[in-house]
Amino acid sequence: MSHKVLVIEDEPTLARLLSYNLTQEGYEITVADHGGEGLQTALQRSFDLIILDIMLPGMNGFDILNRLRQNGLRTPVIILTARNAEEEVVQGLKHGADDYITKPFGVAELLARVSAVLRRTQLQDDNMMPETTEKIITAGELSIYPDKYEVVLDGESIPLRPKEFEVLLYLVQRPGMVITRDDLMNVVWGFDYIGGQRTVDVHVSSLRKKLELGQQSVQIESIRGVGYKLVMHKKLVTPKG
Ligand code: CA
Repeated sequence: MSHKVLVIEDEPTLARLLSYNLTQEGYEITVADHGGEGLQTALQRSFDLIILDIMLPGMNGFDILNRLRQNGLRTPVIILTARNAEEEVVQGLKHGADDYITKPFGVAELLARVSAVLRRTQLQDDNMMPETTEKIITAGELSIYPDKYEVVLDGESIPLRPKEFEVLLYLVQRPGMVITRDDLMNVVWGFDYIGGQRTVDVHVSSLRKKLELGQQSVQIESIRGVGYKLVMHKKLVTPKG
């Protein structure tokens, strides 16, 4: 059964972006664009997760969070905070938020946070140890741990920057598909990221170098003038020495 997510966000573009990407990922989305309406919806219906903006018409995110917790509702909440607003994060967590995402954010980060919060709640409910249900994606000699942002290559953990990790995860989930720089830009850096596509190239090139440390069963090919493609080879047998 798909998880039900309530998005309380008044900014139409952002609400659409959240709704679109979460729906694509299989979540069932309800959007409220007004504080009071959001609170009512959260209290009347049952959700697995609430994504909550702070600055809202009618009632702000902190007040909504307070009311939810006062009513005994323990649904996990991820708050959306403005850039450079550490105080919002602190207040939000104090009021009972489970996690936060700072605007602007990329789709990759959004999906990672949503899935991590849902998994944590699930684990608490099931009272299970995390080790038993850890999510692992494998590609060639790579093992990718999405919740930990960790990649293991030939048994060795390789240090990736968060954006490199998100690029890799996105490519690995779409093997053989040509992914444009624009796609990567939107997914990893956010739709309103101000910066050139050069940023994408720099990260891919650094990522590629790190992957070359292994047996290269997974490689990132450049498609000239377009973007990138992840290619998986059969395990290469290279003579040692
Ligand atoms: Ca807002």
